[in-house]
Amino acid sequence: MRSVLGILLLAAGLSAQTTNAPSDPVRTVVGRLELARYKAHIKGLTQFGDRMQGTERNRDAIDWLEKQLQSFGYSNVERHRFMSSSGPLENIYATKIGTITPGEMYIISAHMDGRGGGEAADDDGSGCAVVLELARVLGMADVQTNRSVRFIFWNNEEFGMDGSGTYAHERAPLQGTAAEPKWLGIIQHDMMMFDHGMPPGPKQSPNADINIEYQRSSTMADDSAKLAAALQAANRSYAQYPATIGANMAGTDSIRFEDLAASVSVRENERITGIIRGSNPHHHEPTDKYENYAEEDFRFGFNSAQTTLGALGQLAGISLARSR
Ligand SMILES: [Zn+2]
Repeated sequence: MRSVLGILLLAAGLSAQTTNAPSDPVRTVVGRLELARYKAHIKGLTQFGDRMQGTERNRDAIDWLEKQLQSFGYSNVERHRFMSSSGPLENIYATKIGTITPGEMYIISAHMDGRGGGEAADDDGSGCAVVLELARVLGMADVQTNRSVRFIFWNNEEFGMDGSGTYAHERAPLQGTAAEPKWLGIIQHDMMMFDHGMPPGPKQSPNADINIEYQRSSTMADDSAKLAAALQAANRSYAQYPATIGANMAGTDSIRFEDLAASVSVRENERITGIIRGSNPHHHEPTDKYENYAEEDFRFGFNSAQTTLGALGQLAGISLARSR
């Protein structure tokens, strides 16, 4: 009798432990990221070709992004219109509203335009897919963040970075008002799939790493270095490929924020020592197509989603609502 009761109590105890469990909500939420979905986001964007600014392909891709964000539960998708040197364009974004301090936010971004006449799959479908997959997981009904998180898809990075530039210029003075939460940091993702080493070989390099860069000569260098360190720490806990920090952020939208808020870029390679020296032979070429990337390339990009979401766990404060 006694032993049966003991077993029953033990079983009840164990099951209570399992249902009350999630000791690390960040790990639980990072575990909801899906490689297949990451790939599907890239596939979805590449259906619009290179999405060059000013084209119908670009406008159709924005409509598609809006539908995706709405399908993840965001009812606050907004377009930021701006005048580019080539005519009117739009950035698009949605915001996860913080439950404790909604007036402070992190910006998670990538650029939705591309060039080269192919599909701009890596540059920057791969970064947009990181942003989409984070928006999807953070949009789940039981996920809460203490601070707000804004998912922004910049337009016209390729020919002037004026989507991000106009947003930064117009909104910086509005920070802390009802019109714009205060910027705690911006994390830009630009080219996230191809680190085959130098010179580029046929396969993902055994030494492939994510390159997190800030700009040492910017006003916000100290805060930016801290943001980079937070990403690297999260990378160690939640991702597979390692992350390396550099101080030469260049050639992507986050530079528009470097004197205004903590700003980093996350990329497959350093801009100066890798990308502009040809580390990715598809860069701005018609061959930057979905079909030209292998499973391990997609996995590398997915690793970046794990890294940034893990960091947001600490930075924005992720928790799970108790199920009833
Ligand atoms: Zn790019």
